Amino acid sequence: MLLTPMAGRALPGSLSVSGHPDIRVMWVPLGLACCSVEIESAVINGLLVESATDQPAACTVVVVAGTVTDALAPGVVSVVTQAAESGPVRVLSFGACADSGGPYWDAPTVTKGIDQLLTVSAYVPGCPPRPEALVAAIVELAQRDELAP
Ligand code: SF4
Repeated sequence: MLLTPMAGRALPGSLSVSGHPDIRVMWVPLGLACCSVEIESAVINGLLVESATDQPAACTVVVVAGTVTDALAPGVVSVVTQAAESGPVRVLSFGACADSGGPYWDAPTVTKGIDQLLTVSAYVPGCPPRPEALVAAIVELAQRDELAP
């Protein structure tokens, strides 16, 4: 599950990691900030492709990509809470803002890392990280925690 601003884009709701059809991801159009563009780039460049199945995944990986403000934080937590009602969830923090507040770490309205709100399973550093880093982190997380069937 990817939290991204895809307003106006006709992308498939269910995607797979290219070369790993058992590792599937789903868009949630919750706009955060510029790191989300790297996720869009992963789709546009074929690193994430339309999934051949809509069967439930073994686990949901929520990728939080972008600046989380204290005002938006409850929405992010709500998405993860709802996902957890359907099964196991892992949270992947993508980029410096989600990791620690990034360049806005000293802004009073910015959450200083989503691990203040959620249990994070993996972090991807960078401002922004490349889309290849996103896919590598999803695959590593899936294989490390044996999330894929
Ligand atoms: S880490 Fe950098 S690129 Fe990513 S959301 Fe923050 S400022 Fe934007």
